[in-house]
Amino acid sequence: MNSETKQAEPTIEETGTLIARVKAGYKPTEQELAAHSGNLKRFVARSRGINENQVDGYLRNRNKARRILRNQPKRNKDCICGSGLQYRKCCGRFSR
Ligand SMILES: [Zn+2]
Repeated sequence: MNSETKQAEPTIEETGTLIARVKAGYKPTEQELAAHSGNLKRFVARSRGINENQVDGYLRNRNKARRILRNQPKRNKDCICGSGLQYRKCCGRFSR
């Protein structure tokens, strides 16, 4: 195997396939992450309908939201997102 070979940039479709595999439990290699890093932003931007330069902030917010969600707030308490609604009627709707 020749690691010096320059890899062609993966297509967005290939990045989508990798994301699907990762979601299914696959652990990507550093090389794959490096090769797909440019496309990841493009893919997220396209699938979320946001601008590419908004992706970093979007992912940060999402990771923050995930971290908070892992603490599983009380369902009848105010939602963690600050909406003023009960958690079970807001962001907690999707978790059981
Ligand atoms: Zn909420």
